[in-house]
Amino acid sequence: MSDSVLKPGSTIGILGGGQLGRMLALAAAELGFRCHIYCPEGESPAFDVVAARTVASYENQRALAAFAGSVDVITYEFENVPSETAAFLEEQATVLPGQRALAVSQDRLSEKRLMQELGIAVAPFATVDRVSDLETALSRLGRPSILKTRRLGYDGKGQIMIREGDDAAAAFAAIGGKPAVLEGFVSFTREISALVVRSKRGATAVYDIAENVHRNHILATSTVPASIAPDTAAEARAIAIRIAEALGYVGLLAVEMFVTEEGGTETLLVNEIAPRVHNSGHWTQDGCLVSQFENHIRAIAGWPLGSTERHSDAVMTNLIGFEADDWTPLAAKPGARLHLYGKSETRSGRKMGHVNRIFAKR
Ligand code: AMP
Repeated sequence: MSDSVLKPGSTIGILGGGQLGRMLALAAAELGFRCHIYCPEGESPAFDVVAARTVASYENQRALAAFAGSVDVITYEFENVPSETAAFLEEQATVLPGQRALAVSQDRLSEKRLMQELGIAVAPFATVDRVSDLETALSRLGRPSILKTRRLGYDGKGQIMIREGDDAAAAFAAIGGKPAVLEGFVSFTREISALVVRSKRGATAVYDIAENVHRNHILATSTVPASIAPDTAAEARAIAIRIAEALGYVGLLAVEMFVTEEGGTETLLVNEIAPRVHNSGHWTQDGCLVSQFENHIRAIAGWPLGSTERHSDAVMTNLIGFEADDWTPLAAKPGARLHLYGKSETRSGRKMGHVNRIFAKR
């Protein structure tokens, strides 16, 4: 991999124009970089804050080539960048974190296999390609279990819980009859995430572990510090570093994990990884010296990593749908910082912004 260091004034290309692209571009601007967003949707929140934009499909090779020729490095804000798009761009530009991280994180089965190779625990699972596989898997893993499509699932989409009495064929049909994995139900006490950033030279830094609460399958809050034992937090950090190193990763990587507890002992299971900045890391904007967004930009630009040190306790609350309409009282709240994404249309279930509440470190 090229060890090149991008100078301020260079242009960073970002695939995807949502709130993550927008916050990456804002952080890049603070270091003197320009950003060029490539996105198929004409109305994208990131467009408002960048120097250049391309509105074209991820299959449009002419537009992709022009984009690659106009930027100094390419990154992405979502893991479902089509593999052909990533391969095409990699022929003409540096793409970071890179194809391997995309390939692994786009497929739940590859993700789980990587964890097993690394000796990292995951929920018990089985591969499901047809209804008969599902029936066999259910008799092994029991009920309830969760059937998840291998690809393109997010925020609870592409997955279904199979309870006592539920029909296997109907469940398989409900996820579109696509290649899937069945996961045993994990009675977790907490969900946490570890965010690691790795530089081109292989240096790593990890943020303090966040404790995440989901509502309707969408992240509602991230609280730092997480209420877990110090040894569990250390193990979560070590797991994130192990994965980043195994992938030869450059940039910010999020690792979501379940914490289970038995007889006072906590155990970690990796649920999934995201090769990008992550919603559970938004607290770092106001709780740390250097945010996840800036550290991702630093890493892909070949810069030294910034400090991941946390100066405050923090609670990040997502503003979903019409919750963001309360921006006046939210903006007036002491100890709170409001971040709005500038989305033109409010829809229920859509992430419109977030609030970081900051407290003195305990
Ligand atoms: P995922 O799309 O894999 O991130 O799953 C979304 C959410 O569903 C997770 O954050 C958990 O709250 C829940 N979930 C997913 N897999 C399991 C499992 N195997 N056992 C229990 N809950 C799960």
